[in-house]
Amino acid sequence: MLLLRRLPRLRLVASRMAPLPHMFTTNTKRCLSTEHHLHVESTFHDELGFTERFLDVVRNDLPLATDPAKSSQLLRRLVKSELLRFTDMRAAPEKFFLAHRLLSSVGLNGFGVRFTVQFNLFAGSILGLGGEEQIALLDEFQRDGTLGCFLLTEKKAGVLSGLIVETTCDWCQATESFTLHTPSDSAAKNWISQGFVAERGVVIADLRIDGKSHGPHAFLMTLRGEGGQLLPGIRVEDMGYKTIANDLDNARVWFDKVRLPRKALLNKFADLDAQGRYVQVGEERMRIEVIGQRLLTGRQAIAEAALVSARVLHMRTEAYASKKVCNGLSGERTLESMPQMRAVLDESYAALDSMEAFTSGVEERLNECLRAGTIPSPELVDAIAIAKIKCIDVAIQRCHALRQEVGSYALMHATGFELVDMLLCCKFAEGDSRILQQKLARDRLKQLKKQGLASAAASVLGMSADSREALAALRLASQLHSAGRDLAKLEAAMDASWREIYHLADLIAERHLREGPKSAFPEPAVDRLLPAVTTFDHEWKGTSGRGDDRGFERRDTIERRGLSVVV
Ligand SMILES: Cc1cc2nc3c(=O)[nH]c(=O)nc-3n(C[C@H](O)[C@H](O)[C@H](O)COP(=O)(O)OP(=O)(O)OC[C@H]3O[C@@H](n4cnc5c(N)ncnc54)[C@H](O)[C@@H]3O)c2cc1C
Repeated sequence: MLLLRRLPRLRLVASRMAPLPHMFTTNTKRCLSTEHHLHVESTFHDELGFTERFLDVVRNDLPLATDPAKSSQLLRRLVKSELLRFTDMRAAPEKFFLAHRLLSSVGLNGFGVRFTVQFNLFAGSILGLGGEEQIALLDEFQRDGTLGCFLLTEKKAGVLSGLIVETTCDWCQATESFTLHTPSDSAAKNWISQGFVAERGVVIADLRIDGKSHGPHAFLMTLRGEGGQLLPGIRVEDMGYKTIANDLDNARVWFDKVRLPRKALLNKFADLDAQGRYVQVGEERMRIEVIGQRLLTGRQAIAEAALVSARVLHMRTEAYASKKVCNGLSGERTLESMPQMRAVLDESYAALDSMEAFTSGVEERLNECLRAGTIPSPELVDAIAIAKIKCIDVAIQRCHALRQEVGSYALMHATGFELVDMLLCCKFAEGDSRILQQKLARDRLKQLKKQGLASAAASVLGMSADSREALAALRLASQLHSAGRDLAKLEAAMDASWREIYHLADLIAERHLREGPKSAFPEPAVDRLLPAVTTFDHEWKGTSGRGDDRGFERRDTIERRGLSVVV
């Protein structure tokens, strides 16, 4: 009814906006419901032609950006174009998320990771954690096409990045400077995207004043000088060749007593006073969750990117299947007409539509916080985690179901199937799905404790979908109860109840998916997939203009998978 009442207005808006007609493909129409379309047309604002201008910058050159040197140059160009400003995450978050989705429609690949590290993790950290002077630097970075990386993960920490931070940053009042240091190999920053090319970095380290730890804080630092050489005390090593996305450089990074100036500390939430004492700035206390805000926007962007890439893969495969001739009992027929093929497509589009409705609803709520500069509520933080876990799960499962029904086509290059490993990368990036599931379950148990046994028992008796969740929480609580605060016992109890932990997380996710506000991505789904690159210049480190190989820790030979590659 509501939709019917809004119809005249929607049509008017739709005709004014005149979305580019060539962007609507037959497939798009098939896979999106009418209601979805009406919503799409009512909210898509692209008056300045952002979509086409943004795609123009990347589309032509992406196939040529075969190695990190070329790929980073392309990103510099995109940054300098100012089509997407670093401050848009706050001023126009819709545009920020749209840019991620557009890139995924071209192909979820190394460039997509590079892009999100630059705009979300690096620039977004300065925007979210920096004081006004530090934020002002973003204009300079944008003008110069400065590349930045985000150094959080440590070798030992792995998926627990942020929870384990052993890199130290000690304040010295006499010299008015910090000393950034990697105390052991296990504390080396690991997998750092753009670590070979970035001039700047936001590094997360334990801030210590007079030997007292104040926990992880973010510091903006210079990694390379004008000529691209690493500054003294900084050492990087290549993480090696990946199964995919070798257009992205990933580095392990060590700091050997590197001096940083006072202004390196991103000081929106915490600072040092004239006497070098630690001071809180404003109401919010600096803690890992505050740093983690960047991971929230990243999670949302990754969830959306996974959905779009799965959808365009389906669209491309459906177009192929509609022309591919197979043989049936009564003669030739198309692959698309086969019942199992239809079933996979129908189930996939239904699952993708449903995840899109939920995820875009989450984005709308997150955008409000980004505009207002507020920290999302715990409920929204959960919803973002669920969007990330579920979108990636659905994308992986549906792409896997699809590839099993199309014969040899699934093995071929330029079909989009060569990119599916990127979905694995989505699974552990910016909050590993398993760790997020554990957090959902843990928070639910805390809620149970707060709620009290009587109230929890009443929820169980409600015989609703929520009562299944309440029962699962009660059961799990009783299984973990005897461990108390003994960490070894708790770990053993968690190991014994691991299925129950993830089952509870699934029920929480189901509730959010059922009850969360729904929306839709404003732009039409368009297959713009470009084939993943197959060539790679192994000498790229010597050929990059800025951020060249001086200071690299180079090994003469890398032995990997029985392959000896001279670098
Ligand atoms: C291409 C790429 C780019 C990246 N870019 C950056 C970057 O720019 N900056 C940055 O800071 N980091 C970056 N990372 C790091 C990334 O975000 C992850 O933190 C990191 O890859 C995880 O470590 P690991 O791969 O060693 O996984 P591990 O920690 O070795 O985990 C392996 C598996 O074990 C499981 N596991 C581990 N511990 C637990 C546990 N306690 N409970 C349950 N399951 C567990 C995980 O689910 C995972 O599947 C990047 C990683 C990649 C691959």
